[in-house]
Amino acid sequence: IVQLYVPLNWFGTYYRQIQKNFVDMENMFDLLKEPQEIIDAPGATDISVKRGAVEFNNVTFGYIPERLVLKNVTFSVPQGKTVALVGPSGSGKSTIIRLLFRFYDVETGSIVIDGQNIKTVTQESLRGSIGVVPQDTVLFNNTIMYNIKYGRLTAEEAEVIEAARAADIHDRISRFPEAYETKVGERGLRLSGGEKQRVAIARTLLKAPQIVLLDEATSALDTQTERNIQESLNKMCVNRTTIIVAHRLSTIIHADEILVLRDGEIVERGRHEHLIGQEGVYANMWKQQLEAKEEKPSIENSLEKS
Ligand code: ATP
Repeated sequence: IVQLYVPLNWFGTYYRQIQKNFVDMENMFDLLKEPQEIIDAPGATDISVKRGAVEFNNVTFGYIPERLVLKNVTFSVPQGKTVALVGPSGSGKSTIIRLLFRFYDVETGSIVIDGQNIKTVTQESLRGSIGVVPQDTVLFNNTIMYNIKYGRLTAEEAEVIEAARAADIHDRISRFPEAYETKVGERGLRLSGGEKQRVAIARTLLKAPQIVLLDEATSALDTQTERNIQESLNKMCVNRTTIIVAHRLSTIIHADEILVLRDGEIVERGRHEHLIGQEGVYANMWKQQLEAKEEKPSIENSLEKS
């Protein structure tokens, strides 16, 4: 669909980075039309996602057989609900997301969406049914119009603008030198982290998937920007099944279930208040984040708002 003239080693770097960080998977599959490890099962049919209910059943997985990264992970996300994944770096949060996108196949256990094992459906239909807002959105060297439209290439211009409005980036685009026709990306107008996230939100709104995967940005945006983005994200997730990899616990206070991962295992689970009451791993993380905020009085405490 899109022609990219870039040095080959860029692909390599990009590919490795994405495999490692779950940066922008949707783009990657378009950028890299190369054979993947995962192949469709013979006679695989398209997935039908109506409700968007997600289940992980006793999922055990390792990138290499000698080292398991997820051990017996079981959870379900009912239609329209939100599950948050938290835990230290390397605990397996992004791996869960990658498996759901079927970057890799699970060894034991199963991942099921609306009753269909994702191993048995076409990858294209699976990925077409899931929206992703990565930490760092990769922009094409193309117009901002194209970059948003990428969420659904058949969308009308008016729909693109509507999505941009809903993602709260329309006014900003209107002030670009050539408005929606402005070239962005590496060789065009550079967008800020927050703006790129809004592009990802607008894309997802256009795509209108039943399931949304969200990898919260670790890099700090200023508090006001963060709040505004949080609002757009919340709107995007309404009535959609959402799985969020959270770094700031303040954003998941209202999650329907929080899974606390450590070394690939779910060590605690429940809603925020429940976990605070347990005085365990989560409660400790919460305390640490509160203390970190207090040490930085210049940053407004965003917790009260949530
Ligand atoms: P972070 O918060 O730092 O993103 P995470 O909880 O998302 O961490 P994962 O990225 O899921 O953690 O990684 C879980 C484990 O799997 C880590 O030990 C990591 O080193 C390992 N791992 C991740 N990707 C690969 C890979 N492509 N090949 C081999 N090992 C990997």
